[in-house]
Amino acid sequence: MKPVVIIGAGPAGIRAAQTLVAHGVRPVLLDEAARGGGQIYRRQPANFKRSPVKLYGFEAGKANALHQTIDALREQLDYRPETLVWNAEDGALDTLHEGHAARLAFSRVIVATGATDRILPVPGWTLPGVYSLGAAQIALKFQGCAIGERVVFAGSGPLLYLVAYQYAKAGAKVVAVLDSSPFSAQASALPGLLSQPATLAKGIYYRSWLTAHGIPVHQGVSLKRINGEQRVQSLNWSNSKGEQPLDCDAVAFAHGLRSETQLADLLGCEFTWNPLNRAWLPQRDSAGRSSVAEVYLAGDGAGIMGADAAEMAGERAALALLEDIGYLIPPQRGAQLEQALGRIDTFRQGLERAFVFPERWAADTPNDVMICRCEEVRAGDIRQVVREGHWEINRVKAHCRVGMGRCQGRMCGAAAAEIIACESQRCVSDIGRLRAQAPIKPLPFGLEVES
Ligand SMILES: Cc1cc2nc3c(=O)[nH]c(=O)nc-3n(C[C@H](O)[C@H](O)[C@H](O)COP(=O)(O)OP(=O)(O)OC[C@H]3O[C@@H](n4cnc5c(N)ncnc54)[C@H](O)[C@@H]3O)c2cc1C
Repeated sequence: MKPVVIIGAGPAGIRAAQTLVAHGVRPVLLDEAARGGGQIYRRQPANFKRSPVKLYGFEAGKANALHQTIDALREQLDYRPETLVWNAEDGALDTLHEGHAARLAFSRVIVATGATDRILPVPGWTLPGVYSLGAAQIALKFQGCAIGERVVFAGSGPLLYLVAYQYAKAGAKVVAVLDSSPFSAQASALPGLLSQPATLAKGIYYRSWLTAHGIPVHQGVSLKRINGEQRVQSLNWSNSKGEQPLDCDAVAFAHGLRSETQLADLLGCEFTWNPLNRAWLPQRDSAGRSSVAEVYLAGDGAGIMGADAAEMAGERAALALLEDIGYLIPPQRGAQLEQALGRIDTFRQGLERAFVFPERWAADTPNDVMICRCEEVRAGDIRQVVREGHWEINRVKAHCRVGMGRCQGRMCGAAAAEIIACESQRCVSDIGRLRAQAPIKPLPFGLEVES
């Protein structure tokens, strides 16, 4: 019999697995990471000994609970870590584990693939020493390393303050935090943010802690360029008073997160434009059912909602799946989860208002800025294709190869869409959706294929 498969052992995937096991279903749980936990509760290598409080701060209790859950489920699951899903189609997934490719047929699948940083490039962003905010956090959380000795954090979104705080708390030198959102945006977002007072309090704490420890925090500013020859040596930022230089040897930057939607796309899910996430997202009902009968969606991979919501959405999707295969599921738990998810959604709307998208980014980006580093496509190359009359993103890709390289648009897709929209004077929702292509992540040459 074909198994139920879950892709992603983060908060969403683990809670989905737990729910299935609790009803007597033994799912296959696939994750490309070595240890379950996902991004927020990423675990350190087995021989590292930092305490959960050191690693996860206020979230240590939740991290412990999730790790204990997956550890306790080990025997009741077919858990396959270090297994990348690189393609999906017609009831089957293509996987890669230790250099071996294999095909796994499924009866139903829960896609819980999480998110990555949304990158809006600036001049100099490809220099060694420049990281995304998430990558800077991974270096610290996973390996206990800082990305440099004098680090600037820039961009926007909740991770900006959190990662700057984590670095400073761990003893790294944080030179400054450059937030592109103005303070007025954060003040006006308060009513929505107050729907989750505990989460809001943590955000305020991180921000205040940085200021109290003498770390300059500038709001409503733009990161203009990152300077250096062999690696980062300084950067320039600007506000209404003009441009200023800042010495540093590393920069971490991003503007919020973007959902990992490629597998949902390859599985045939319908997508709709989501103005809150400023992205195309796979359609799902309130229980996590996609437009394809066998496919369920949960967590940040279906829209950025945060870790608590991911846990709930994972459980909710698993309950929907169980119901669909004939289990009698009392409706109360599903309704409770949906109500709680609704409350988090109100908070999310507040967050998007607090950390506003920098609308001027596309217009202000110089022609020579590299947008697609895999295929070396610059902003000017994309604009040239638009001037030749193409504005649908897949056509633009065909003409200049933006999004055609190893990352398959996971890094550059959002930025390319903004440039195309701005140059063609269309809304970003009107230039189409970059279609996913397999392999969604790079594969080694000479793969051994198991039959
Ligand atoms: C780098 C990063 C750091 C973050 N840090 C924080 C933080 O400190 N605090 C916070 O509140 N929020 C943080 N977030 C947001 C937070 O990760 C999410 O809200 C939460 O983890 C979502 O849970 P999830 O289960 O949906 O996805 P995730 O936790 O992202 O889990 C998804 C899992 O799917 C796996 N996966 C993805 N694609 C594939 C594939 N093709 N094949 C196999 N496996 C795959 C991944 O390895 C991962 O383990 C971070 C996000 C990122 C991207």
